[in-house]
Amino acid sequence: GAVIGILGGGQLGRMLAVAAGRLGLRAHVYDPAPAPPAGDLCHALTTAAWEDHDALRRFAGAVDVITYEFENIPAATLDLLESLRPVRPGRRALEVSQDRLTEKRFLQDLGLATAPFAPIDSMDDLEAALARIGTPAILKTRRLGYDGKGQARISAAADAPVALQAMAGAPAILEGFVRFEREISVIAARGLAGAVQAYDPGENLHEGGILRRTTLPAAISPATRTEAALLAGRILTALDYVGVMGVELFVTPAGPVVNEIAPRVHNSGHWTQQGCTVDQFEQHIRAVAGWPLGDPRRHADVEMENLIGDDMDRVAQIITEPGAALHLYGKTETRPGRKMGHVNRIRT
Ligand code: ATP
Ligand code: MG
Ligand code: MG
Repeated sequence: GAVIGILGGGQLGRMLAVAAGRLGLRAHVYDPAPAPPAGDLCHALTTAAWEDHDALRRFAGAVDVITYEFENIPAATLDLLESLRPVRPGRRALEVSQDRLTEKRFLQDLGLATAPFAPIDSMDDLEAALARIGTPAILKTRRLGYDGKGQARISAAADAPVALQAMAGAPAILEGFVRFEREISVIAARGLAGAVQAYDPGENLHEGGILRRTTLPAAISPATRTEAALLAGRILTALDYVGVMGVELFVTPAGPVVNEIAPRVHNSGHWTQQGCTVDQFEQHIRAVAGWPLGDPRRHADVEMENLIGDDMDRVAQIITEPGAALHLYGKTETRPGRKMGHVNRIRT
């Protein structure tokens, strides 16, 4: 069978490798860390730096197609790999999602609603942006933020200097605070020939900037459900995308507002492992391997709970719960805020 190259061997890479294996394909994972979570479940593991061009060349030579579990692949790494093998999803999706400013402009150009925003490189920029956008607002680093890291809330103009300091000199973006009713996300896929499929949107609850729970069905109207799927399709098509994408949305009285997009399988799509015939990991592998997409219909009500840090203390109890499917990532070290696993509970 074909060999799928996966950049990044965290829990997403691990679950992608398992899905590839189930389809009779082989997963070759590339990760700079010595023992990444995907390491024991993939067919081959390359442990080398993103800058190691010899290792990247050997990796590309050993695989048929390359995909990734995280969007922050250095540009030079991508340049080299792209010259050797198809990289799916492609460069445009990475460019757009690596930088929050590029991302917001792309979404606006598509006619989609976003939070009001402004690029921030100095205190002058920040003062001018706050005068226009108002408070509350959130200052975020443009690049490399996740799980709410690299963000500072601004409740009043007086908070501005401390917020700017928290960016540590990195280029930033100010976003107006969206007064949302709820947060949802659409996990959608586009195949090599352009077909699009979307999973039912899940409702997301964040705590301290980290996803805590995703609940299906979301408490949204049929119109919002349809609108969410359609806008995800527009994003995928505009990017000529191949693979699974997570689209995070704020639901507001005026309609959905796009928060951010992730060009990969997404934490808020883990419920599909128990809720659908074809889960997001298989769907992504199908897409990047050039196979037809699978049926994304939801056949159960599900709640996904992330197991973060000390939540691992509850594993012995969770494992005995009827209707609960436990997924652990095999991480040996527990740290506060670290995603160690998740549990999908079928709600009947
Ligand atoms: P992820 O781990 O999802 O990539 P991230 O670090 O990229 O997270 P965001 O998705 O930008 O962070 O923000 C985390 C959470 O903070 C959001 O899910 C939302 O709850 C809240 N948030 C972020 N931006 C805004 C905003 N402009 N208005 C209201 N709430 C916001
Ligand atoms: Mg993000
Ligand atoms: Mg987010």
